[in-house]
Amino acid sequence: MKTRSTNGTGAAAGAPGRLLLGSHLSVAGGMTNALDEAERLGMDCVQVFTKNQQQWKARPLDEGDVRAWRSRVAELGWDGARTVSHASYLINLASPDDELWARSVDLMTIEIERCEALGIAFLVHHPGAYTTSTRKAGLSRIIDAYAELFRRTRGFGTVSCLENTVGSGSNLGGRFEEIAALRASIIERTGEERRVGFCIDTCHAHAAGYDLSRAESAATAIAELDAACGLANVRVLHLNDSKAPCGSRRDRHEHIGKGTIGAAGFAAVVNHAGLRDRPMIMETPKGDTPGGTPLDSLNLRKLRQLAGLRSGGRTRGGVRAS
Ligand SMILES: [Zn+2]
Ligand SMILES: [Zn+2]
Repeated sequence: MKTRSTNGTGAAAGAPGRLLLGSHLSVAGGMTNALDEAERLGMDCVQVFTKNQQQWKARPLDEGDVRAWRSRVAELGWDGARTVSHASYLINLASPDDELWARSVDLMTIEIERCEALGIAFLVHHPGAYTTSTRKAGLSRIIDAYAELFRRTRGFGTVSCLENTVGSGSNLGGRFEEIAALRASIIERTGEERRVGFCIDTCHAHAAGYDLSRAESAATAIAELDAACGLANVRVLHLNDSKAPCGSRRDRHEHIGKGTIGAAGFAAVVNHAGLRDRPMIMETPKGDTPGGTPLDSLNLRKLRQLAGLRSGGRTRGGVRAS
């Protein structure tokens, strides 16, 4: 893999493929509100929760809501690969507790079904925590969970993406090799290669010990990711700076360029030819500046600058599906 220019000026000219930048947006008041907000902010993709992420129960999706979501996505000219959902944090597919594991599989089934109904391409979830068991037992529980999930949802199109974590405590997925081995085992068990991918979170990777703070070390980390997971299988990226230092194993998201990753690391990511055409989702802190500018807008502008695009330089016509 070639190391690309990371000075943030003009590098985009050499990087083929579309830069798809978006954010995790609220669905409060209706699912389509997230799409309206994404358009207002000039984004190319979006991530949502399709249900209240802190509740086990979910009201079934309303058919009108599904129609409205699908027609709004079509109106935006977004092809199928621009919408992402993040699964509930309650889900723990690695749990050694049979009841919690069963509830997790049930809720994950609902998450997959909702994505399928809405035509959401990618469902991101954390691998899970093995708590009182062992790493090996936890991984084997996740593989069992996937076997059951894919049995229940045969033929579905939504791709489940294993997200890398900071690897704190008993949380699985801190190393690229670990999520790679997990995906390989799931495929071996289910034969469903197309339905499992990865979501790589920059904050999590950095806090887990992959140093993204300098152009060279970031290029090395991306090469390690490629070697372990294959960049083609990385379907979604989470672009978050980190409040906590590299290797701290603390998950604290920071605004782009304001944390311990900084501008050089994000330039390396957004200008990497092997990572284009993926939804790049910010999960940075929300709010407005005192002047009323959404913080999402500032982060978006920063990323576009680093990609050598002028602010507002998104090629709206050029990124349409047709
Ligand atoms: Zn996540
Ligand atoms: Zn994330």
